[in-house]
Amino acid sequence: MNRMISKENQTENSATVLINSLAQKKISSGIKVFNLSVGEPKLSVHKLLLEAAIEAMHLGKTLYPPVSGISELKYSASEWMNNIYGCSYQPENCLVVNGGKLGIYLLLQLALSKGDEVIIASPYWVSYPSITRIFGGSPIIIDTNETEDWKLTPDKLKNVCSSNTKILIINNGSNPTGTLYTRDELEEILDIAKKHNLLVISDEVYSGLTYDNHSYVSCGSFDAYKNNVIVIQSCSKNFSMTGWRVGFVFGNEIIIKQLTSLVSQSTSGVTTISQWVALAAIQNEKMITAWVQQEMKKRRDIVLNALNTQFKININPPVSALYLFISLAELGITNISSSEFCTQLLEDANVALVPGSAFGKEGYIRLSFSADECDLIDGIKVFSEYVMNKFN
Ligand code: PLP
Repeated sequence: MNRMISKENQTENSATVLINSLAQKKISSGIKVFNLSVGEPKLSVHKLLLEAAIEAMHLGKTLYPPVSGISELKYSASEWMNNIYGCSYQPENCLVVNGGKLGIYLLLQLALSKGDEVIIASPYWVSYPSITRIFGGSPIIIDTNETEDWKLTPDKLKNVCSSNTKILIINNGSNPTGTLYTRDELEEILDIAKKHNLLVISDEVYSGLTYDNHSYVSCGSFDAYKNNVIVIQSCSKNFSMTGWRVGFVFGNEIIIKQLTSLVSQSTSGVTTISQWVALAAIQNEKMITAWVQQEMKKRRDIVLNALNTQFKININPPVSALYLFISLAELGITNISSSEFCTQLLEDANVALVPGSAFGKEGYIRLSFSADECDLIDGIKVFSEYVMNKFN
C-alpha cells in the first residue's frame, strides 16, 4: 500500500457509481447498454435554464462566488422552502453547496467524532453509511420492511437510541423505496430525536417529485424542532439539474456558519454560473418542477404497466422519487443474490440495475425510471425477456 494512504482513510466507492462505471465501460467499447441504474431525470436542459446560463456568462458572472452562495440565491431558496413547505428560513439559515451530497458530507464531517453513532433506516441511500464511516462514526442500521411501507417506526427508533447516538438521518421521499412520511409520523420521530438530543439530518432532495396527489412534509416546517433539524435540499432532481451541482443546507445560523468555514477551506463555493441557473430554476419553480414531475410520473407508469403485465404481478406504485424497489422473489427469481443477479444481467443482457444489498436490503433490485423514455421501454423489454427465459 502507498505510504501516503492510511488504511483508515480508504473509502468505499458508492455501489451505484460502481455499476454505472461498469455500464460506462461497456458503452465506451461500443455496446448498447440500457442504464437503469442512475437516478437522474434524463431530460433536455429547460430553455429558461439554458438562457440563464448564457446570460450569466455574457454578464461576466464567472468570478469566484461568495463562499456561502450568492445572496439572491440564498434569499430565493429560503423563500422556496417557506412558501412551498411552510418553513421559516432566512438567508442566514441557508448555505449553497455543490449538491446535496456535499451538504451531508460536510455536516457529518462537522458533527462526528470517532465512535459517534448515526441512525440510518434501511433500505438507505448508499452514501449515508459510507460517509458516516469516513468520519469515524458508526452507522446504526434500523431494518424496515415492505409490509410497514418501509417506514422507520417510533418504537424501533427508541430501541436504538443510546448515549453514543448523535445523529438521525431521515430520507423523506426515499431513495430507493419512494416512501413518504406523514406530518404525524414525522412529528413522533422528531419528538423522540429531541428527547435524545439528536441532530436530525432530513434529506429532502426528492421533495418536488411526489405522485398521485401525495403532498410533501418538510422536517424544517416544525417550529418546535427547529434547532435540532438540518434540511438537505437540491436542484438535482427537483429541477433536473444533476450536472450543475447545486444543493442547499438549511439550519440554524451557528451550524451554517461552521459549515461555511469548511466550504471556504475546500471548494470555495459553488460554480458561479450554476448558482445563477439555480436562481432561475427557483424563480420558475412551479413550472419546472411540474414539468419534471409529470415526465417522471409518465415514465414510472410505463415501467409499472410493462412489468405488471409481463410478470402478472401488482407492484405498489412508489409515491415519490425515481425508483422501483422490486422484490426478486416477486419476479420469480430465487437462489441468487441481488448482486450476482445484477452482475449477470449486465454481463448477459446489457441492462444495468442496482442490487438491493447496496441499500442494505438483500432480495431486492432498484430500477430507476428516470432514464430516457425509449431506453426505458426497450430496456424493460430486454430485462423481462431475460428474466422470463432464465428464471421462469
Ligand atoms: N440524497 C439522496 C437520497 C439521493 O438519492 C441523492 C442522489 O442521488 C442525493 C442526496 C445527492 O444529490 P445531489 O448531490 O445531486 O444533490
